[in-house]
Amino acid sequence: MNRLIADLFQLSKLEARQMDFDIQPVSTEDFIRYFDERYELELAGAGLRFETVAYSLRPEAHRQAIVKIDMDRIDQVLTNVIYNAVKHTPRGGLIQLHFIVDEHSLVVQVQDNGSGIDPEDLPYIFDRFYKKDKSRNTAGGGSGLGLAIAKEIIDYHGGRIWAQSRVGQGACIAFALPLVKGGE
Ligand code: ADP
Repeated sequence: MNRLIADLFQLSKLEARQMDFDIQPVSTEDFIRYFDERYELELAGAGLRFETVAYSLRPEAHRQAIVKIDMDRIDQVLTNVIYNAVKHTPRGGLIQLHFIVDEHSLVVQVQDNGSGIDPEDLPYIFDRFYKKDKSRNTAGGGSGLGLAIAKEIIDYHGGRIWAQSRVGQGACIAFALPLVKGGE
C-alpha cells in the first residue's frame, strides 16, 4: 500500500510538472557502460539469462553522442521496465537489453521471451492503473503505475516510449532519448 501511495504521489507530481529533475549531459558511452552492468547480478539471482548488446548506426559519431538526462530517473524507468520483464518471464528465460545509437537518439530496448502482451492490451499499458489480470498480478506487487510513471519521465526528457509484443513469444519495451544536437 505504501508503494501504491508513493507511486501515485510521484505520478501526480510528474503530471503537474512539479517534480525536480537533475538534468546532466551524459555521453552515450558512459550511459551504456553504466547500464550494461547495472542489472546483471539481480537477474542472474532471479534465474534468468541476461544479455546486453550495444551498437551504433553511425560509428564515427558515437563518441560525441550526448544525452541530457536525470540518471536517477532514467534508472527508475529502466528498473520498472526490467522488473516487469522479470515478472512476466519464467525462470530460465532470456532478457536482452539493447542500446542503439542512431542519428537522432539513444534507443534502449528491453526484450523478454515471456508471456507477451495481448494486442488489445498494448495501447493501454502506459495508462495509469492498467493491469492485465488484477488477481494474477497482485502477487507481483505492482501498482499498475510503473509504466505510466516511466512514460511521464521519458516525456519530460523529450523522448518517447513504446511497446511491441507477440503473445507467447515475449514483449519488447523500448524508449528513445534525443541526442544533444551538434554533439556539444
Ligand atoms: P504493474 O504494476 O501491473 O506491473 P505497469 O504499469 O508496470 O504495472 O505495467 C502495466 C501492465 O503491462 C502490466 O500489468 C502487464 O499486464 C503489462 N506488461 C508490462 N510489461 C510486460 C512484459 N514485459 N510482459 C508482459 N506484460 C507486461
